[in-house]
Amino acid sequence: MADVLIIGGGLAGLCNALQLVRAGLQVTVIEKKSYPFHRVCGEYISNEVLPFFENLGIDINSLNPSRINRLEITSAGGKRFSTPLDLGGFGVSRYTLDDYLYQKARLAGVKFMLNTRVQDVQYLENRFIVTIPGDVLTAPLVIGAYGKRSNLDQKLKRPFFYKRSPYLAVKFHIKADLPDDLIQLNNYKDGYCGVSKVDGDRWCMCYLAHRDDLRKHGSLAALEENVICKNPQLKHIFNNAEFLLDKPEVINEISFEKKAPVDHHLLMSGDTAGMIAPLCGNGMAMAIHSSKLLAEAIIKNYQSGNFTAQQRTKLEQEYTQAWEKEFANRLWAGRQMQRLFGRDSVTGLTISMLNHIPPLANFLIRTSHGEPFV
Ligand SMILES: Cc1cc2nc3c(=O)[nH]c(=O)nc-3n(C[C@H](O)[C@H](O)[C@H](O)COP(=O)(O)OP(=O)(O)OC[C@H]3O[C@@H](n4cnc5c(N)ncnc54)[C@H](O)[C@@H]3O)c2cc1C
Repeated sequence: MADVLIIGGGLAGLCNALQLVRAGLQVTVIEKKSYPFHRVCGEYISNEVLPFFENLGIDINSLNPSRINRLEITSAGGKRFSTPLDLGGFGVSRYTLDDYLYQKARLAGVKFMLNTRVQDVQYLENRFIVTIPGDVLTAPLVIGAYGKRSNLDQKLKRPFFYKRSPYLAVKFHIKADLPDDLIQLNNYKDGYCGVSKVDGDRWCMCYLAHRDDLRKHGSLAALEENVICKNPQLKHIFNNAEFLLDKPEVINEISFEKKAPVDHHLLMSGDTAGMIAPLCGNGMAMAIHSSKLLAEAIIKNYQSGNFTAQQRTKLEQEYTQAWEKEFANRLWAGRQMQRLFGRDSVTGLTISMLNHIPPLANFLIRTSHGEPFV
């Protein structure tokens, strides 16, 4: 029997798995897809994760990432603001990164159940019962690392699931004549589009849009032509880039509502515990950092074969406190920033303000990012 079942093999799940298996625990990851695969994500990762990756033996340089140290924000009205980034980040596709982490975890001894969608999870008498197609698994600990929104949130009756979100998101990989070291945040009515280089000779272009605009225009192509390409920078990219994926990746119902880091005794990690607005470009660093906080709390409080309800309570309390301390303010800042962008008039004003007070940009970035961690 596994000590820990991890539901979801994204960044949070894979990083949890690597740390826990190295601490001597039996770890199984259950992932509904099979690596490698594309995901909706802007694929810009804050440099705050680099010391942690190095400590975990993750060699990012071997993935040929881009190095990003400049930010440009544009509005549909043609306004523009540029700034160097204090901390900066790197670009690598999730197709490449998640597969690399999966191979690392597998070699370290993590067991994987791929193409397996968890149908239900219940807590009963100090252990979990996890239902997958044709089987039932049990374990003393379960980590929920299944991302922004899943069938399990409905099963667990998590409040955020019942508040509908109007946002959808779309990702392309493109080949374009764009700088290697720049991340762009291009705004338009009700949304924004991040563009930055990833590994290989390609750029990630990922946009957020409002469901009412899609409904009004009838298709993604019409939405892109009539709403997104109102931003001259995006019009130029859409007209000149080579689109590399057969079809874009699309997801719906992206919610920034509050969630709980521990729910029904499940230890939530990454987006399952809380998601920051995508424009902050910090969701991946947060998912990775949350895995570190959780792995530390588990390693400190869990004893294989002798894990009491009191020890579970202590583990849950310590993780909740560490999570709130690290992320509560960041998530709040992200929700405020989501209000400043993606609306024509407000974005134009925000860009004018940033041009008058340039240090404000790095202040806003700092409030939605963390410090480098080991
Ligand atoms: C439009 C957009 C742009 C973004 N851009 C950026 C950016 O540029 N930089 C950044 O840092 N962050 C960005 N983010 C945020 C970032 O993508 C997430 O924060 C990050 O992917 C969270 O990782 P995770 O491991 O928590 O979840 P995920 O990476 O979503 O992994 C969850 C996994 O769980 C699996 N799963 C789900 N349900 C089940 C089930 N029932 N059974 C088994 N498996 C299951 C899924 O298949 C998936 O593999 C963006 C997000 C969006 C929406």
